[in-house]
Amino acid sequence: MPELPEVETIRLQLEPHLLGRRFDRVEIHDPRLVRPFEPSAVAAELEGERVSALDRRGKYLIVRFESGRALLIHLRMTGSLRHAPKGELADDPHRRAVVRLDDGSDIAYRDVRRFGTWQLLEAEDLEPYLEKRLGVEPLERTFTSPRLGQRLEGRRAPIKAALLDQRTVAGLGNIYVDEALWRAELHPLRPAGTLEEGELARLTRAIKDVLKAGVKRQGASLRDYSTPDGGRGRMQDRFRVYGREGHPCQRCGTPIDKIRTAGRGTWYCPTCQRLERHAASSSPRRPSRSRRHSSV
Ligand SMILES: [Zn+2]
Repeated sequence: MPELPEVETIRLQLEPHLLGRRFDRVEIHDPRLVRPFEPSAVAAELEGERVSALDRRGKYLIVRFESGRALLIHLRMTGSLRHAPKGELADDPHRRAVVRLDDGSDIAYRDVRRFGTWQLLEAEDLEPYLEKRLGVEPLERTFTSPRLGQRLEGRRAPIKAALLDQRTVAGLGNIYVDEALWRAELHPLRPAGTLEEGELARLTRAIKDVLKAGVKRQGASLRDYSTPDGGRGRMQDRFRVYGREGHPCQRCGTPIDKIRTAGRGTWYCPTCQRLERHAASSSPRRPSRSRRHSSV
C-alpha cells in the first residue's frame, strides 16, 4: 500500500510532466473510481482543466487546476500512475483511467484491487476535506515532539494503531510505522498516551528519518507499487523489521517477531522494543499496587 514516501515519489516524478498541461481527453473506465458520480460526467468536467500545481497531503495526491478546482487522488492499496510519451502506452487489463495531455502524452491510472479514488473538488471544499481527515505533515517543521505528544495525550490505543490513524500524523502506513517504532525502540502495543518526553522526541525523529529515507530511495516496491516512469523503489532493501520475521535484529541479533495489532501484521524486536518495563507504572487498566492490597 503506498504510503507518504511512495506518493511523494510519484508526485516528484509526475510534476514536470503535468505542470502547465491541459487535460485534453479523459477516459474513466471504472465507476468505482469516481462513485457516486458517473464516470463520463467526471471525465467531461476534467477535460479542459489546466494543471497549476501537483501537491501531496498525507497519502493524497492533489492535482490543482488553474480554475481553482482540484483532483484528489488516493491510491489506497494497489493504485499507481504511469506517464507515457505519445502512443507508447502498453495495454493493461488493470487500467482504470487515462488522461491525454495537450502535449500528446498520457497519464494512466492502474489499480488491481480497485480501492483507489478520484474526487474532483471545488476550490473551497479542498482544505476542509483534508483538514477533517489528516493530522500534521511529518516532514514539515510544524511536526515536533510536543505536537505529537498533544495528539497522543490520553489515548489508550496501542501506539501502532494511533500512528496508523491519519489524524495523528498524515501519511504513515503499516510499513513506515513498524520501521519508525523499531528506530525509536518502542513496543507497538505501548499505550499511546504513556509516552514520555524523551520517547516522544525519539519517535518524532524516527518518523522523519524513516520517511526521508523512503523518499530518497523512491519508496518501497513490494508488489504493486512502481514509479510513474515504470521503475521500482529501493526502500524494501533497507527494512529493519517489516516482513523480517525470524531474521536477526540488526541492532541486537534477536530474531524479529511478528504479532497482529490494529488488524495488521506488525513486526518488532522483542529485545530492543520492550513493553514490560512500562506496563506496571503506565497501563491504565492494570490495578495499582495499593488497590490489590486493599482487596486482600
Ligand atoms: Zn533488537
